[in-house]
Amino acid sequence: MTQPHKIEQVNSMKIMVLDDEPFMLSLCQRILSNLGYHHVTTQDNGASALAQLHTADHPDMILLDLNMPEMDGIEFLRQLQHLEYQGGILLVSGENRQILTTAYNLARAYSLHVLGHLQKPLQPAALAPLLATWRARTATPAPVLTSPTTPITPQAIEQGLQAGEFVNFYQPQIHIAARQVAGMEALVRWQHPQWGRVPPDAFIHIAEQHHLIQHLTEQVIENAARDAALWQTAGFPIKVAVNLSMADLSQVELPERVIQTVNQQGVPPEHFTLEITESRLMEDVRTPLDILIRMRLKRIRLSIDDFGTGFSNLAQLMNLPFTELKIDRKFVQGAAEDDAARAILESSVQLAKRLNMTIVAEGVETQADWDRIAAIGCDSAQGYLISPPMPASAVIPWLQTWGKD
Ligand code: C2E
Ligand code: CA
Ligand code: CA
Repeated sequence: MTQPHKIEQVNSMKIMVLDDEPFMLSLCQRILSNLGYHHVTTQDNGASALAQLHTADHPDMILLDLNMPEMDGIEFLRQLQHLEYQGGILLVSGENRQILTTAYNLARAYSLHVLGHLQKPLQPAALAPLLATWRARTATPAPVLTSPTTPITPQAIEQGLQAGEFVNFYQPQIHIAARQVAGMEALVRWQHPQWGRVPPDAFIHIAEQHHLIQHLTEQVIENAARDAALWQTAGFPIKVAVNLSMADLSQVELPERVIQTVNQQGVPPEHFTLEITESRLMEDVRTPLDILIRMRLKRIRLSIDDFGTGFSNLAQLMNLPFTELKIDRKFVQGAAEDDAARAILESSVQLAKRLNMTIVAEGVETQADWDRIAAIGCDSAQGYLISPPMPASAVIPWLQTWGKD
């Protein structure tokens, strides 16, 4: 007597078919209907599929065509990663197996739940078992990726550090003129066994207040150096950047620690950047100055983060040994509307350039942002337009596909 329940379960799975060919859409719909799946929506382009994902009509499963004229399937996967889409994905393509396999590996690296790939013309016999696998998997609830419901305590952070639950995500920086990857910024996440993926804004300040930040920074630096060495071995000798807290700069032995870690991994020190937020930097520069100078003497690069959010002017910052200026996203995105902001931004960029600093614009979300910062003279761009932060396992596949289209 379990049959009716089973059918009910089959019927309740919501499937989205995304393919630019109308014929494929109706064919898929017919095949799915014959297999007992009736909650099927069809979309013929990536943009409207993404729009549907933002509504309550959220599919449990997406059948994704890789070849589409505007937003192709690879770009769509990147958008799904950004949305942290938790449903299942099946890749469908008329391309050869090799392309399908590469796309499959990329989606896996993005931590998406990709169940498999299917060659066109679609065979019901191949499709049915893959959909059944997903049903079986979702019968047990998947770990949710949400913010913790209980308050984060210093004890929990300490345990997480012991258990190695803090992982680096990476966001690429692109050299604007050459359109080449300049480096990756490490952005820490807490992969908590119950809470799922916790963003840094939820725990960094607690770690800072309870003297846990040094331990955390050490782990982030070690992971970043190890990953940069892996990229180097894979043929991508790019830079890596790590965020520091002001509390890190009270540790006099920090320069030696950093240089020891990068040397151990065989990463050149000039490929290692430390980012320090502008507003905090100006709170007290006397203590950290000695640490900053020793970092520079060891060829570690130093970046002023979130430039434009503090009250300092560039002249004050010029007395510090920084090699890079990172313009805050609010400035990048707002500079178009506000003439005064734009003027300050432009003169800061010019002054920084004269002092041989690299200028990075962060929060580049649109083509208009990109064009504007390119016109002002920024060297590199970072932001969702290029890629959201990705798990470490996704970096090499991403580097291999960047610039290939
Ligand atoms: P941040 O250093 O300014 O990092 C950039 C933040 O902007 C990241 O947030 C990134 O995901 C987000 N972002 C990137 N591109 C875009 C875009 O195009 N649009 C918008 N709206 N946002 C974008 P995330 O990863 O949540 O990190 C937040 C902050 O937490 C970082 O800001 C940094 O200050 C801090 N943080 C991250 N990792 C570490 C770490 O290992 N140590 C310390 N001390 N702080 C860290
Ligand atoms: Ca940063
Ligand atoms: Ca920043």
